[in-house]
Amino acid sequence: MRRAHIGVFLGLVIGVVAAGYGQALDMGEQASHVGGGGYLIRNASLVLTMDPNLGDGGILGQLENADVLIVGDRIAAVGANLAGPDGVRIIDGRGMIVMPGFVDTHEHAMQSIIRGCAADDTVVGWLARCTSGIRAANPTENEMHATSYLHAVGLIDTGVTTVNDWIGRFLNPVYRGSVRALVDSKLRFSVAVFGFATDGSDLAATVNMVKQDFIDGNPLATLQIASSPNPGTAAHIDVASQLAQSLGVKLHVHLLENIADLASNQMQVLQNNGAFALGRDLHVAHFVHASDSDIATIASLDASVAHNPLSNMRLASGIMRYPEIQNAGIRIGLGLDGGTNDTTDMFNNMRAAVGLQRAKSLNALGSPIIAEVLRAATLGGAEVLDMESQIGSLTPGKQADVIVIDPRTINFAPSLSLVNQLITNGQPQNVKDVFVAGRPLKSNGELVGVNVKKVIKNAQSAADRIAPFLVP
Ligand SMILES: [Zn+2]
Repeated sequence: MRRAHIGVFLGLVIGVVAAGYGQALDMGEQASHVGGGGYLIRNASLVLTMDPNLGDGGILGQLENADVLIVGDRIAAVGANLAGPDGVRIIDGRGMIVMPGFVDTHEHAMQSIIRGCAADDTVVGWLARCTSGIRAANPTENEMHATSYLHAVGLIDTGVTTVNDWIGRFLNPVYRGSVRALVDSKLRFSVAVFGFATDGSDLAATVNMVKQDFIDGNPLATLQIASSPNPGTAAHIDVASQLAQSLGVKLHVHLLENIADLASNQMQVLQNNGAFALGRDLHVAHFVHASDSDIATIASLDASVAHNPLSNMRLASGIMRYPEIQNAGIRIGLGLDGGTNDTTDMFNNMRAAVGLQRAKSLNALGSPIIAEVLRAATLGGAEVLDMESQIGSLTPGKQADVIVIDPRTINFAPSLSLVNQLITNGQPQNVKDVFVAGRPLKSNGELVGVNVKKVIKNAQSAADRIAPFLVP
């Protein structure tokens, strides 16, 4: 491995250099915003840049004994013997793994309120017994804030730095509470909005409200439109596709999740109601029961896929045809899919993504191999969201969405292969530091500015109030 591979983002940080190369330092005013003088993670045992041009190991971009410099909201430099500006805070990286934060491409943060619900049912029964109960309980904005905030801090805890949250079909208080929780968490997020009416009649109004109150002017936030194709929602798909097109945002749908979806002609409903015209701006979650022809169609549209292996296991949905979908050139990201996996553990999700395919194919080298699943969880997820110019790798100049992982723990040690053990051993407890846009959200193993006991108490109160409406 290279030990002195230097990447420096010249456009932002003129003058930041490797001290070992003897050049002068002058950070200027760029160093003065988020993080003060910035953060220098020094002497990390392993840096996975996920940039093939920055390090060895192909798609992983591996560097040993390297530094990562964060200045303002950007990654300023990656390499050996870096020096930072005045006031830079040093993080001792010895023994640590540093990599880009995880990108969660399909989520329902508010569903934390039904964790554990109908754990003996498929998605069809789970929707009827659990999510319908939330709707019947008519949750308040504060209840939805409490549960979505619990979920959001759980995502930070596991090293997720960008979440793509799909919200539907609910009234305004649910949107307001959920999206406010994402804002308060300081995660980078996109939110996909469905509205309440299945004919799409209130979609534009709900989108406008979310956009004006939470998205516009927030550099961490982007908007999507949500829908789910079936014969009863054709009108919604039509309105949603037109709105996505006019706003230039993605349409994010559930597709071919359960075997029962095959009877709903979902691909036809999408095609007949304008969704295919979105092309690259169509994002589909699950895609488990895709035929060869469905895969060819999604590939030809340049649409993207969110793979949710833990959810697909929990709900007996099936195993997505990962190798075929990847071979078709379709962009794949990972998703935790809200309450359907009862957790926010991205390590467990990556482990399931690898393990399910091996159990199905009896091939330990079938896709995704470990390097591929790490890519899907980072740069691949960024590509799914069309955000790869901003996030997904530690390329200097990109946003400083960075995580530091400590493998020196009972579950992880002793270390033979840090890369492989990220998947075989990793747990949220190993995530020591999390930065989003250069701002520390988890520091030295503690969530920053989060009263964990209070967060749990608030979420439990909301769950207790809603519980009588569920059929657990
Ligand atoms: Zn979902």
